Amino acid sequence: MSTTLSTQRREDAKAQGPEQRCVSAPLRPCVETSSPPNTLLRQWTGPLTADLVRTPGEFGLGQVPARLKPDATTTMVCGFCSTGCGLNVHLKDGQAVNLSATADYPVNLGMACPKGWEALTPLAAPDRATTPLLRNTATGKLEPTDWDHAMQVFTLKFKAIMDQQGPESVAFLSTGQICTEEMAFLGALWKFGMGALHCDSNTRQCMATSAVAYKQSFGFDAPPFTYADFEESDVLVFIGANPCVAHPIMWQRVLRNRRSPEIIVLDPRTTETAMAATTHLPLAPKSDLALLYGVAHLLIQNGWVDREFVDAHTSGFAEFAEFVREFKPDAVAAKAGLTVGQIYRLAESVKPGKRVSFWWTMGVNQGHESTRTAQAVINLALLGGHIGKPGTGANSITGQCNAMGSRLFANVTSLLGGHDFANAEHRKKIAATLGIPESVIPTKPSLAYDQILDGIAAGKIKGLWVIATNPSHSWIGKGRNGSGDTDFDALIGKLDFLVVQDMYHTTDTALRADLVLPAAGWGEKEGTLINSERRIGLVKKVRRAPDEALADFHIFRLVAHYWGCGELFREWTSPEAVFQILKRCSAGQPCDITGIADYRMLDREGGVQWPLSKEQYSVFTNQCSVGESASGHPPSLNTEHCLLNTSSRSERRLFADGHFFHPDRRAKLLFSPPRESTEQPDAEFPFVLLTGRGTSAQWHTLTRTGKSDILRQLAPSELLLELNPDDARRLRLRAGDTARVASRRGELTACVHVTPTVRPGQVYLPMHDVATNRLTCPAFDPHSRQPSYKFCAVRVERAKGETFK
Ligand code: SF4
Repeated sequence: MSTTLSTQRREDAKAQGPEQRCVSAPLRPCVETSSPPNTLLRQWTGPLTADLVRTPGEFGLGQVPARLKPDATTTMVCGFCSTGCGLNVHLKDGQAVNLSATADYPVNLGMACPKGWEALTPLAAPDRATTPLLRNTATGKLEPTDWDHAMQVFTLKFKAIMDQQGPESVAFLSTGQICTEEMAFLGALWKFGMGALHCDSNTRQCMATSAVAYKQSFGFDAPPFTYADFEESDVLVFIGANPCVAHPIMWQRVLRNRRSPEIIVLDPRTTETAMAATTHLPLAPKSDLALLYGVAHLLIQNGWVDREFVDAHTSGFAEFAEFVREFKPDAVAAKAGLTVGQIYRLAESVKPGKRVSFWWTMGVNQGHESTRTAQAVINLALLGGHIGKPGTGANSITGQCNAMGSRLFANVTSLLGGHDFANAEHRKKIAATLGIPESVIPTKPSLAYDQILDGIAAGKIKGLWVIATNPSHSWIGKGRNGSGDTDFDALIGKLDFLVVQDMYHTTDTALRADLVLPAAGWGEKEGTLINSERRIGLVKKVRRAPDEALADFHIFRLVAHYWGCGELFREWTSPEAVFQILKRCSAGQPCDITGIADYRMLDREGGVQWPLSKEQYSVFTNQCSVGESASGHPPSLNTEHCLLNTSSRSERRLFADGHFFHPDRRAKLLFSPPRESTEQPDAEFPFVLLTGRGTSAQWHTLTRTGKSDILRQLAPSELLLELNPDDARRLRLRAGDTARVASRRGELTACVHVTPTVRPGQVYLPMHDVATNRLTCPAFDPHSRQPSYKFCAVRVERAKGETFK
């Protein structure tokens, strides 16, 4: 039977009833079943033959499924994590039908993780929000409405709350997942147009610590590195970071390192990265600050300090040296659960003389003393002079695709372009740049995320607008048995009005909203994202948003219009127009991007790292010559393209001149005595609960990755509790048993996974399950106000009704 005939008959059979199917299938006996058995000649299950036919894809794509053959391709960056991989999007009739990793994008070099490969799938999910939904107060149900009515209700409700209780009675909680231009519009609209103040975003949950640590230490929120440093280090130290799972493409860059690097992992858990490392130091949970001070003690005691660099480029060395005298190896080893020899060897590995780079992420950022811990990492880099040179740096790996954009341009914690709301000169500059009255720029900071929730608990904040984030799932301490004050779901009951703006009407938070505003997703709008190495990449509209869903940018324009402040934003007509405004705001700042002409240039250059001032751009222009390549990478033959696209220009790191952003141009060595976490294990709750990412196929609250069959298959189908074999024996739990895990705030049940990846007395749960935050302890770093997700006390026992096996 020919392929075509076979396929046609199968489709005919599908269109007919079961009896008809029997008649039209003469090669097999007629049986009364809706699922006939496969035969040698025909398979009734599996993909259609047409789906298996492949054809030359052109555009350098090799073979592609015939139904996905593109008629054009375009490039853009991925919208999940902060790696910022370049993707080739395959277009058919102007709509994205498939994608592949961009081979020559300087970030991912042709690689992508499962989330990137599946990035288009969540756009087609059946639970997309396609029209505004308003809760009917009589029925309690969310019902469709139109944009005009939705905007009128939005405006009336928020204005009524602000009129009655003042401008500080409303707040928004936003995200690191939307484009920079959208964040900037939202922050400017909120503060300058609507006259409100309080706002924060979910970057508070992941990157606030790094932002504050860098600001205090370097004088500006400036991650110094470039991804080439992964490949150019002799020693890479990962602290509370598991790039194998959380940043798999960054790990691929580590694997490209040809210098036979020493890879040291500091993590309580034997993570995938720890398994692949040359050295794993399984320190006790939250002993990292003391350990890092102990390493500094050894470096100074042994004279393993780059004094030339320290004397010329840092301040506070004498005070720091005096402070760390207390952190003697014996005491530090006892606290960290390591040997003195392990700590000594760590110090020896990071002393001056080699290219040493330090990399941290949530294991550091999400702690009760996280800012000082991040600064303790920075201090080690400064002591060794490990900064501003290839293969070095105190490098915070960002989480979300646009956390960096949020930190600099969201107008939330800093005034547009990394300026300071409290600085009169900065307010004057931004007012003049935007052509707005200086009086509309607030002089005081917003409350932080947890303080906004405290405001709701206290009845001071009555209106809340949640944009592209899911705090009902992700906020810490959801449990109701303990303090309960930060349980987001309970707090919603205290609000007069909750608006959720999201791609999906089914998120845990959207289900509780009074008004749902349907938003376009990544790939359905344009704008820019800034990745971990400060690279600004372009997002394009390659799909139509469903029905009435609008780009966040256009929702903000609508709000401005209905609020009556549209005139203030007359220049904010499109994302690219806002990009030009943000360029002007950045002028003269460490994040100056005035040298980036436009979106075309970002596209052409494979993204551009900040800073790129006009002056830097003209230097590059003058230096550029055809055939030049600092790296051995093939140079571009296009003179326009080669302005930045050689290794030295497309991979730029900060502080090569040793000048930092404080007025004295020195980096500060900052420190504080370690403190115990607010909650410690005891007889009732004897285990330490560690939390983190599950697999590379999962993203945060699974709002998008949960929509992909493929990604779901790459992750466990149930919540797994990692439990050490010794503890499992003692508790008489075996793999596959159901355990009850309880903290002082709440409880959950999970499937036991017996594994030595966790030490005795510690258990691990992935953060992707909505139940995990019933357990976590709402403790916060005092400097960054970032929640301490990584440490709380729990009890583990056999779930009720479970019998011993
Ligand atoms: Fe996207 Fe991050 Fe995966 Fe790259 S590593 S494809 S940016 S999710």
